[in-house]
Amino acid sequence: MQNHLFGLLACLALVGHGALAQAAQPRSSLAGQVIVVDAGHGGLDNGARVPGLDEKDLVLSISREIAHMLRQAGAKVVESRQADDNLIPRGAKERNFQRKNLEARVELATRSDAGIFLSIHANKYADPSVHGAQVFIGEEPDPERQLLGSCLHAEMSTLSGSRRQLDMISDLYLMRHLKIPAALIEVGFISNTAERSRLMQPAYQHAIAQAVTRGVMCFVRGRSALQLSTHSSRPNPAQAPGATASLA
Ligand SMILES: [Zn+2]
Repeated sequence: MQNHLFGLLACLALVGHGALAQAAQPRSSLAGQVIVVDAGHGGLDNGARVPGLDEKDLVLSISREIAHMLRQAGAKVVESRQADDNLIPRGAKERNFQRKNLEARVELATRSDAGIFLSIHANKYADPSVHGAQVFIGEEPDPERQLLGSCLHAEMSTLSGSRRQLDMISDLYLMRHLKIPAALIEVGFISNTAERSRLMQPAYQHAIAQAVTRGVMCFVRGRSALQLSTHSSRPNPAQAPGATASLA
């Protein structure tokens, strides 16, 4: 009887442990990850503008939601800005202040010993019918950056209905200077009326944050397998750059 009771208790304990582990897993699956969430532009740099909306404000709101969700998943998140600020002192309204703000972002990644960098932007294009998210990872990405880009691209394409390929581009300062897995996410086009309206809705911003968090989880899961396989072979850089609208 005692053995039976012990067995039952042990069984219940295991069930309980399993349930707890299942419940805890999503919260802790990014434990140990240090991630910079960079709200693009800010302060003197408005980014893309359409009447009534500046890119810097939209991406701040979305970035804060992304940071919140990544923290909920267990990551340590460093935000490049939490308000409408420059990253360099306000007195530095000088030549090349945009470049200096970008340099400050690279320094932030180094200083915080980050393992992942996500730069959040919104786009604008002359043709108002152009819409959909884009993910950029820079020219000649290494396999880890390729993986991060692919994971984020899959999630963001599904969410935004974009049919574009994962984009590389050579002249992105951040992508060229960051030495860690990094991606620039253009969440959509504020020049497209329907997409702009969606991007401004808290529910859609939450959906973006969920998509980005799933993308980062996909990367973290896949990286372990990649690290085992990349000692012997390196994948070819993926597709050629797709047709890209001008970045904002
Ligand atoms: Zn931008």
